Amino acid sequence: MLNVKTPEEVMEIINREFAPLLLSETVDISDALGRVLSEDVKSNEYVPGFNRSSVDGYAIRAKDSFGCTESIPAILKLAAEVEMGKEFTDELPKNCCVYVPTGGKVPDGADGVVMIEYTEKFSGDEVAIIKPIAPGENLVYKGDDCKPGQSVAKAGTKIKPQHIGVFASLGIRSVQVAKKITAGIISTGDELVRIEETPGDGQVRDVNSYMLAALCKENGCEVINYGFCRDDEQILRSLVKKAVSECDLVLISGGSSVGQKDATARIIEEYGPLLFHGIAMKPGKPTIFGRCGSKAIIGLPGHPGASFFVSTIFVRPLIARLTGMTGEDLAVTAKIKEAIPANQGRTVYIGVKFGYEDGCLVATPVQSKSGLVSSLANSDAFVCVPRDCEGYAKGTEVKAYIF
Ligand code: AMP
Ligand code: MG
Repeated sequence: MLNVKTPEEVMEIINREFAPLLLSETVDISDALGRVLSEDVKSNEYVPGFNRSSVDGYAIRAKDSFGCTESIPAILKLAAEVEMGKEFTDELPKNCCVYVPTGGKVPDGADGVVMIEYTEKFSGDEVAIIKPIAPGENLVYKGDDCKPGQSVAKAGTKIKPQHIGVFASLGIRSVQVAKKITAGIISTGDELVRIEETPGDGQVRDVNSYMLAALCKENGCEVINYGFCRDDEQILRSLVKKAVSECDLVLISGGSSVGQKDATARIIEEYGPLLFHGIAMKPGKPTIFGRCGSKAIIGLPGHPGASFFVSTIFVRPLIARLTGMTGEDLAVTAKIKEAIPANQGRTVYIGVKFGYEDGCLVATPVQSKSGLVSSLANSDAFVCVPRDCEGYAKGTEVKAYIF
């Protein structure tokens, strides 16, 4: 008897049955891209450390410019010129201005900077200002970027280039991240041949080892590829044993339905609870989730397209859960260019290709049978039709999740 779950139930099961593995390590920020922070990163300084100008111009007291116009400019004496990267400790004298380049220090006493375009420099060090500024104008205050004690990135954040920029600005050389989880990949099937071989009649190349390894790597895993094995229960059993001992997550593709030769479910059950067998989704129904302590053993459909959808929709969140990663998948709203039919009782997932029409984002469904992976290679995102929905008419605005 299959124990079939809906996609929503599967997400609940992932969150209930699995927990972050909580093993962390310190990495240099140069190696931190794509890793998941295991603790909050806090600022320990003011950035910038001094008031800076955001334009080339003259630092003044804003009130000295009030009411000035092109015909009646405010005249201030040029007291000094700030040089980039140089200390400047003098206070702005009364009725004076100080020249400041973009990013240069704004002297104490000044509360704004007039852009050079709105000034004219006369001989005798006098500067005419023809447009008033408000207090704070063109100024980046000390600590505007970061203040001591402020959290700049939370635990669970997947580190992006901009986070690395903030760490660098604070002089943070290394950060604490979750250890990479190790994913083991096993393909099964008597019909499979190595990709360098020419398949004979009835044979196909082993797509899933490569595709699933890539998906796991893209999501921050270390990968051990166990290649493919014949539909032989004993061989698969010993391969799974090795994989479970070496990995945190084991993906077995093929043999996940309930055929005579489909031993995957039996083997997974030998390690612990079989959480479910079957997801009410299309493509991807024959999927098995099992747990061995804190480790996950997953049986994926053999059809590469189906296997890709299941991995994208459920294995990615599982990897995120095990590494303690937080955050939502990126979704955009687009109008669909062709109707998408529903499938009674099963949530339908379909790849879409983006384009623009009259400046609006449109998504064209990429029609595919579940085994066809080339159509997914031609998709930018996927759209989901819930199982209780009667499909989408052409022109419906839908959420598209970017691959
Ligand atoms: P199965 O889930 O084992 O019944 O396989 C379903 C379909 O997927 C069959 O047509 C298999 O030939 C195909 N298939 C299974 N594993 C792979 C693989 N690793 N690469 C490419 N196709 C596969
Ligand atoms: Mg098979």
